[in-house]
Amino acid sequence: MLAWLFSLLLAAWLPGVASAQQVLQLQPGFDDIQLSPYLAYRHDSGGIDEADDAFRRFAAGEFAPLPGQSEFGFQPGAYWFHARVVNRDPAETRWILVQQYALSDYVDLYVRYADGRVVHQAGGDHRPFDARSISDRHPNFQFVLPAGQPVELLVRVQSESSMQVPLALLTPTAFAGLARDAQLAIGVYYGILLALFFYNAVLWLMLRDGSYFWYLFHLSAFGMVLFTLNGLGFEYLWPNSAWMTDKSVPLSICLALIGMQQFARTFLELKKRFPRGNQVSIALIGFFVLLGIASLWLPYRVATPIAARAVLVGVLWIAVAGIVVVRRGYVPARLFMLAWSMFLLGTTLFTLIAFGALPKTFYTEYGVQIGSAAEMLLLSIALGNRYAALRRENARITEEANQKLERKVAQRTQEVRSALVQLEEAHGRLRDSSRRDGLTGLYNRTYFHEAFEKMLAEGRQSHRAVSLLMIDLDHFKAINDRHGHLAGDDCLRCTAQRVGKVLRVHDALLARFGGEEFVVGLLGHDLHQAVEVAESLRRALVDHTCSAQGHEIRISASVGVHTIAPGTIDNIDAALEIADRALYAAKANGRDCVKTSISAA
Ligand code: GH3
Ligand code: MG
Ligand code: MG
Repeated sequence: MLAWLFSLLLAAWLPGVASAQQVLQLQPGFDDIQLSPYLAYRHDSGGIDEADDAFRRFAAGEFAPLPGQSEFGFQPGAYWFHARVVNRDPAETRWILVQQYALSDYVDLYVRYADGRVVHQAGGDHRPFDARSISDRHPNFQFVLPAGQPVELLVRVQSESSMQVPLALLTPTAFAGLARDAQLAIGVYYGILLALFFYNAVLWLMLRDGSYFWYLFHLSAFGMVLFTLNGLGFEYLWPNSAWMTDKSVPLSICLALIGMQQFARTFLELKKRFPRGNQVSIALIGFFVLLGIASLWLPYRVATPIAARAVLVGVLWIAVAGIVVVRRGYVPARLFMLAWSMFLLGTTLFTLIAFGALPKTFYTEYGVQIGSAAEMLLLSIALGNRYAALRRENARITEEANQKLERKVAQRTQEVRSALVQLEEAHGRLRDSSRRDGLTGLYNRTYFHEAFEKMLAEGRQSHRAVSLLMIDLDHFKAINDRHGHLAGDDCLRCTAQRVGKVLRVHDALLARFGGEEFVVGLLGHDLHQAVEVAESLRRALVDHTCSAQGHEIRISASVGVHTIAPGTIDNIDAALEIADRALYAAKANGRDCVKTSISAA
């Protein structure tokens, strides 16, 4: 930039430098020469001069040497460039002049030979692509330079696009080599873009995440911008359309701007993380949409500079939004910012070249490509990164929800389990109460039947005797009559307790059979042992009085004993009847005694 200003000043202070213009001597071995150092130029701002006028003006010293470089920004009218060439190599008489900037509208070459003959060739992207000497994205002109003859080259460039005139003179061999290298570089670049495109397109189709769509949009539109700027759009897509050539640059820039704002907006989640910034982005997008539509009618020289400046605004705004979101702690935005700084660098270089503020070198020209390829690649990684972050977040939420659910389920299970236990207990209590007699707490007659049946079965199985004791209190009616019914009840409870106490050491089943009658089943007791138990029961009753309603009441009982020997088939009612008969025998025998079915018989 400074060097450029300096050389401008130098040119202004030293008029007449044109006369010191160097003649280009094409020595053997030369094959690729940048013409800038050998050029003089004149700005024909009205664009009215013909070639004759230009040759005349050159002769009159109205041309100035190039100010160190060949970029002039957006300029009205035409620029004329003049060079003197002498070919010193008889082996190399065919040369190609190449305008190494694809977007110039009209490029005309006038070759004036020593004999005064002038040969004219026309090119530029406002003329059909087929008019080019060689099919290439850059305008080019092939002509003959006879050895030893001084030849004048006069080039006229007129364009709505920026006035960039990097002219070069090449042999056909050098041209082919250069074109091949450039095609390879371009192929690699678009190869990267295509690979990223398809890779992310597949991801978008599978994940349906809006960020991927806008990434694809951004990538396609930006690829289109470079495709157009490189001259490939004209060469391959609209070789005969001057209109498309003019509109494609601002239009594709606007699309790229819309794509990149939308992508940044969705990727950085501006709506959630930076709502004000989100509004700014939406406003910018609105402006880019309007500019895109307007550029269909606006002249190129108006639309393109606005679009190019809008690129700087758009890119800088995304950088600001990115920084805000990174500072607010959004981790995936870091990689995004790294990618964006690549793009920022590339785009800045591109814009500075377009405005003629930077010389066109390999690095500034391909910086755009290198920067944008790096950006697209990093953005693709950033997308992956963001996806991974989303998935981790998802997994965390699911895990948390699962744990919560598991805790809830465990708690509920515990509750259900304890309810079941309580239910079981209640059920048990209910069942037990239905088996028991309310007054004495002993088993009732119904339950005795069930349980005694089991005892009989067990005795059969284990070949053990089962004995049956029928106990009836003596003269109980008289006790009731003398001491009252309540005292009688107390006596029944007292009896139950004593009998229960005596039986505790035996494998016995005790029940209240009804009224003042009790029944006992004894497993594994033969008749002799059963009589012994009956005797101890009888004694336990008669030996001590029962306290009932303030009275000490002596109680005695008669007991009938029957034993079912192992192996004998016996039904319970029959057994009870036999035991009852033994009991009657005891009553008949004067009460307070034990009788067996055998002794009764
Ligand atoms: P025995 O020696 O011949 O058995 O004379 P007993 O008076 O005991 O005979 P009986 O079968 O005639 O009388 C039984 C009495 O038991 C009749 C009834 O008043 C009394 N009794 C029956 N159940 C209850 C009860 O639940 N509570 C009270 N207090 N008395 C009862
Ligand atoms: Mg009785
Ligand atoms: Mg009785």
